Amino acid sequence: MPAETKPLVVITGASSGIGAATASAFSQAGYPLLLLARRVDRLKELALPRTMIAKADVTDANGFEAAVRDAEKELGPADCLVNNAGVMLLGKAHEQSPEEWRQMLDVNVMGVLTGTRIVLKGMLERNHGTIINVSSVAGRKTFANHSAYCGTKFAVHAITENIREEVSSANVRCVTIAPGAVETELLSHTTSDSIKSGYEKWKQGMGGALRAEDVASAILYAYRQPQGVCIREIVLAATKQGA
Ligand code: NDP
Repeated sequence: MPAETKPLVVITGASSGIGAATASAFSQAGYPLLLLARRVDRLKELALPRTMIAKADVTDANGFEAAVRDAEKELGPADCLVNNAGVMLLGKAHEQSPEEWRQMLDVNVMGVLTGTRIVLKGMLERNHGTIINVSSVAGRKTFANHSAYCGTKFAVHAITENIREEVSSANVRCVTIAPGAVETELLSHTTSDSIKSGYEKWKQGMGGALRAEDVASAILYAYRQPQGVCIREIVLAATKQGA
């Protein structure tokens, strides 16, 4: 397919880590992009061609939708949404602040549902589209200090599969990407220093976590299958990650 006919891909949380690597991978493959995050300076630094950027918080449904509609006016309907924005605030259930739980639920769960609502109706009308939700191995099994985070990622798995069942007959694909530990800024927001250092030791013990680019390749692979092929889930982790 010539580059100019490729459809719009929207990526949330594109200012760092997996989202930024996914933006680069899709851009390299010739897709026009809408990149969303709160740190718009970081989106600008990516300097990708045929790419619109917008400062958007995925917990602000109106701002999120306005950014997508603006991009669709310029670049055509969104054929792929990568719901990647997420926060991981690790903590013990009896110690963690409910504000941290709320932030994770709002971004990791409500953000995914909101993004889905924004693009899904158009995809159903066109009988074409793909929603790729970035969950985690922590969406399939539990880990110490992860109770609220695991709760949000188990929710992402359930939401993705449930919506996939609802929309499959309309030729719309829903994909769960479930990475193990990846070397990004994700851990930096956790407030407990002892939990952070324990996590870093765990990553060192496996000889280092995945690179964001490894996950980006998996996302691009899933999307680039023929529309008649739905990769329902990809689970990937460093080979030496035992858990
Ligand atoms: P980063 O912290 O590097 O990236 C997180 C991204 O989410 C940033 O671009 C950030 O942008 C964005 N974000 C956070 N809150 C909001 C918000 N309210 N509105 C819009 N964007 C927001 O971490 P990762 O790249 O690792 O994380 C990406 C996804 O991968 C997450 O869903 C995470 O749970 C998942 N994941 C990560 C793993 C890991 O080990 N790193 C393992 C498994 C899954 P900004 O702050 O500019 O708004």
